Amino acid sequence: MRSGLVSNGMLGQDGELSPIVPDVSVVVPIKDEVESLPHLLTAIASTLQGSEYSYEIICIDDGSTDGSPQWLKEQAQVRNDLKAVILRRNYGQTAAMSAGFNYAMGKVIVTLDADLQNDPDDIPMLLGKLEEGYDLVSGWRKNRQDAALNRLLPSKIANWLIRRITGVKIHDYGCSLKAYRAELVADMNLYGELHRFLPALAYIEGARITEMPVRHHARRFGSSKYGLSRTFRVLMDLLTIAFMKKFLTRPMHVFGLFGLGSMISGALIGIYLTYVKFAYQEDIGNRPLLILAVLLLVTGVQLFCFGLLAELLMRTYHESQGRPIYRVREIVAKNGK
Ligand code: UDP
Ligand code: MG
Repeated sequence: MRSGLVSNGMLGQDGELSPIVPDVSVVVPIKDEVESLPHLLTAIASTLQGSEYSYEIICIDDGSTDGSPQWLKEQAQVRNDLKAVILRRNYGQTAAMSAGFNYAMGKVIVTLDADLQNDPDDIPMLLGKLEEGYDLVSGWRKNRQDAALNRLLPSKIANWLIRRITGVKIHDYGCSLKAYRAELVADMNLYGELHRFLPALAYIEGARITEMPVRHHARRFGSSKYGLSRTFRVLMDLLTIAFMKKFLTRPMHVFGLFGLGSMISGALIGIYLTYVKFAYQEDIGNRPLLILAVLLLVTGVQLFCFGLLAELLMRTYHESQGRPIYRVREIVAKNGK
């Protein structure tokens, strides 16, 4: 069953045809990819022109120094299907994608890399899958064309860890080729390098997620912007996600529990030591147990206060952005009341 992805403009309230909302916005973050760009735009355009979907391409230049922004600006002036967003400096792939989401108008957003490693010909397939009723379809580079030791191995480990921690059962988090329903990314805030965790963030927001094997090619032009150090940053981002998943609405449940547990055990040990001192006149000043008791009490109080602070922060987080703690999929009522 079609879920209304394909349309040609919408009727506004006054019966006029409002500006045409494309079915698909293709968002491409770009850092020094000038040689790939002509091939990329041609491939995206020919695939989507041959499909039933209307589309726009949003290219975000992320501080390239190789002439990419100049080329994009020229093209955007002569093509109808291209919007070029030029950032002031290099902010990183996450920020570039985030900018792309902000400027995209389509009902569906497809992201892919500019380096031709993802294949634009796979886009219609992802869109078809999305129409089956998913909110996010993630590409899976089943046949990945990258160096084995410094790319594939860390990626295998990272993917395994991410799967374990986030609970989102997809194989390949690193694949940029993904399709999202626009409303899913509309209120998603990305920081650090969190674009890799969009499926996990979407999952926290209650999205229906699936994956599909997609093609992957070796880089033809330019060079990769990432090295092995990415693994460390991915791990740190993973901690953030794990934290958000668990504690986002009730941090006190976690910190309060540990804090209280620690305080109670510290207090019990303290009571025991006091009893020993007075009942048996023993010297407790040199007992390791005393240090443990003090340590438990102090950390307990700290954890407890930390939990309270976290509660305050979470309230500010939700309220300052007008973010409810729930996400509505749809509302059904007779007569549209
Ligand atoms: N990219 C970006 N800003 C950056 C680094 C990368 O916009 O600071 C873009 C880059 O141009 C490419 C995509 O992000 O389109 C993925 O980068 P890359 O191909 O180097 O990563 P890899 O495929 O090697 O993981
Ligand atoms: Mg690449």
